Amino acid sequence: MNIFKFGGASLKNSERIKNVVDIISSHSKDPLLVVVSAMGKTTDALEKIASLSSDRKDFKRELEEIKNYHVTICRDLFQGDYFENELKTQFSNFNSTALAQGEIDFVYDQIVSFGELISSSILTAYLKYRKFEVSWIDSRQYIKTDNTFREGKVDWNLTQKNIAALKQTKDQLIITQGFIGSTTRNETTTLGREGSDFTAAIYGSCLGAQSVTIWKDVPGVMSADPRRIPTALVFDELPYKEAAEMTYFGASVIHPKTIKPLANRQIPLLVKSFIDPTVAGTKIHECRVDHLPPLIVFKENQCLISCKVTDYTFVDETQMTTILKALSDLNLKINVMQNSAISFSFCIDYRESKVLKLIDVLSKQFEVYYNANLTLITIKNYDAITSSAYRTMKGVILEQSSRSTLQVLVKM
Ligand code: ADP
Ligand code: ASP
Ligand code: MG
Repeated sequence: MNIFKFGGASLKNSERIKNVVDIISSHSKDPLLVVVSAMGKTTDALEKIASLSSDRKDFKRELEEIKNYHVTICRDLFQGDYFENELKTQFSNFNSTALAQGEIDFVYDQIVSFGELISSSILTAYLKYRKFEVSWIDSRQYIKTDNTFREGKVDWNLTQKNIAALKQTKDQLIITQGFIGSTTRNETTTLGREGSDFTAAIYGSCLGAQSVTIWKDVPGVMSADPRRIPTALVFDELPYKEAAEMTYFGASVIHPKTIKPLANRQIPLLVKSFIDPTVAGTKIHECRVDHLPPLIVFKENQCLISCKVTDYTFVDETQMTTILKALSDLNLKINVMQNSAISFSFCIDYRESKVLKLIDVLSKQFEVYYNANLTLITIKNYDAITSSAYRTMKGVILEQSSRSTLQVLVKM
């Protein structure tokens, strides 16, 4: 079996969905499990509803916009009102889900998961309409997580057991959702933003798939985001380790949790272009690549927090432990850190509510300063040219380098 994953950009309108069906159709020789994301920017729009719902504010207009977007896609795909009633039913059921009460991250997951449920059911309906034999499965029955809502941690034993049952299936083509799972109490969870690549890797690993292919709007993994650096090079192949490190530093082309489950089972990950599927793309597998060029990763929306001791003692391990515990309790990950005699500074993703909670906790013991709207630039395998270019950039507020990696934190 092979696993394909299609993200929001590949499903953003009816033309793109037809293109996805062409790709599926030209790979229908072997059994295929297809993981899909929400269409276009639906997840962002659902996040807005989650926030309005949590604040007990009205979200009728926002929901209407999401509904109209999907109705338009369906009208373009299907003749007459094929699927329209089903779509309306799903939206009206969703309306009550969106009014769910409870803890904020729980409510978020109940709402935001709808994007993948609706996109997978539209794609399945369209494949049936085009006379493909296809079955739809609910990822929440297969991928089990703990109850860390918004960032569900996979219970690998249960998930492996559930997904293994799919090995018996005679179905040649299965469509399912990325990004979502459920707790053992069957409450819906999500795996973290952009988590559909990870879902594809979970299915790939638990099924022992031949390969996992993630279809993107770029020709493969490149030496930098081509939106930032148009001259970036495409890699034909990359070792798992190199790809994992790139994702760790924030190369958003692959979700950071994707590589490990595949590398552990030596399953190749292919990154290919849905715009030109004839291009070979990048194969990530166990291999040796000599002389990689500098890899440049931009991670936006960073914030630098500095904790200063207030009584002229030095920052010691006990104080660092307090800081790290506060971060760990809030499930926050340090992207870069630096210490001096009287202060400990670290850079994390800026998620307002969490950062404010963190500052609140740390302020009990330290003088806390923070600086938001920063970009962390990491250059792996830096050379003389990139080193001098990035070190001397305007707005650098922190710099750190090892033999292979240079990082600068910049106010752009
Ligand atoms: P998906 O549609 O699956 O969610 P994403 O939009 O998350 O896909 O990922 C594709 C985008 O990743 C590209 O459009 C590109 O701008 C960005 N990107 C960032 N870093 C890289 C890189 N090193 N190589 C290729 N693309 C990159
Ligand atoms: N739809 C989710 C998101 O936008 C998951 C994904 O696309 O990978 O974050
Ligand atoms: Mg994405």
